[in-house]
Amino acid sequence: MTEPSDMPIGRLETRAVHAGMEGLAEAGSHVPPIDLSTTNPLPSVEAGGDSYENLATGGTLGPGDSAVYQRLWQPGVARFERALADLEGTEESVAFATGMAALSACLMAAVAAKTPHIVAVRPLYGGTDHVLDTGLLGTSVTWAPADAIGRAIRDDTGLVVLETPANPTLELVDIADAVRQAGSVPVLVDNTFASPVLQRPAEHGARLVLHSATKYLGGHGDVMGGVVATDDEWATRLRSLRALTGGLLHPFAAYLLHRGLRTLPIRVRAQQETAGELARRLQHHPAVQRVMYPGLPGQDPLGLLGRQLEGPGSLISIDLGDYDSAVRFTQGCRLVSHAVSLGGVDSLVQHPASLTHRPVASDAKPHAGVVRLSIGLEHVDDLTADLMAALDAATAGPRPATPEALAR
Ligand SMILES: *Cc1c(COP(=O)(O)O)cnc(C)c1O
Repeated sequence: MTEPSDMPIGRLETRAVHAGMEGLAEAGSHVPPIDLSTTNPLPSVEAGGDSYENLATGGTLGPGDSAVYQRLWQPGVARFERALADLEGTEESVAFATGMAALSACLMAAVAAKTPHIVAVRPLYGGTDHVLDTGLLGTSVTWAPADAIGRAIRDDTGLVVLETPANPTLELVDIADAVRQAGSVPVLVDNTFASPVLQRPAEHGARLVLHSATKYLGGHGDVMGGVVATDDEWATRLRSLRALTGGLLHPFAAYLLHRGLRTLPIRVRAQQETAGELARRLQHHPAVQRVMYPGLPGQDPLGLLGRQLEGPGSLISIDLGDYDSAVRFTQGCRLVSHAVSLGGVDSLVQHPASLTHRPVASDAKPHAGVVRLSIGLEHVDDLTADLMAALDAATAGPRPATPEALAR
């Protein structure tokens, strides 16, 4: 294997498999060990103190240094961070217990720098909207349309926050344009929906790339995590914040997330292929008023597919017109589980207005007729059959057509 200083080479698929795995063969291992130590031996009083000082202020572990204490440094977490930074094309990344812990650290960093004003583009993940709208962490927010970010920037603006594809409408935001409008203010892009397989916001000038690693990166619905891919300066700031406020990733979670990265490209592309087919099939059902999916004609007015986003992904939102139809559809799914979250190998359905976007202000809340689907790795025909039956249930009228007819 490679030396620690060697970054893996090759295309994304190859790097997804090998990034962060350096030095294992020398240690006699094939996969990263899970080190659960909460504390670590100190070589001497003086060296221990120096290591503590370095790590608590956001430094990285040098050769021969003690990791001191798990809240300051964890080798498996550092491996996952190197791998994710490699896939996002950033200098570093910093991992947290959850996506919200990662976002909170970015907001706390803005407050600490005395630039607590945030410019944010709706729609956002419900939790992000909630923490910004309430100002819980000491930030204030100006909600701006994507083409009016520049006008909303003030002297005390610390961050521009946006999400693309957005949640749950799957609208696309032009990252390079947002970066241009933001000027010297760092732009944070929540890249959870696209994953680094389909979109690498740092290539378009985003300084902070946030993931709820709970979703596609883990990919199996069994681990929570968050991560921010960024440059050295912000990584140092975020590591220090993590060391002091404690939102760290558990070593076992780091192991699962790192393992998840190895199949990320193949999962994302297979799920996307199924979702594309389903989006086309679903739009012909009479119960469906609108299918929201960036890959459908007319749904990428800015021409970002191919230029910013490699493919439309595997989330689909459908507007069934009203709340009752949305409820009947959601509860009518069988193979597709009614559960929150997304990005896993099994397909999920949820009703954003009453669940993930419940705390969002009423004028910004998704329409009550909208349901969001996360498409997994099941066979497209089995998913079609399940979703068509649920759509029939939603109309509560006569079954309009067979899935085979609708698939044409
Ligand atoms: C789930 C999610 C979050 C929050 O992440 P957690 O890991 O649940 O804390 C943030 N942004 C997006 C887009 C999400 O889907």
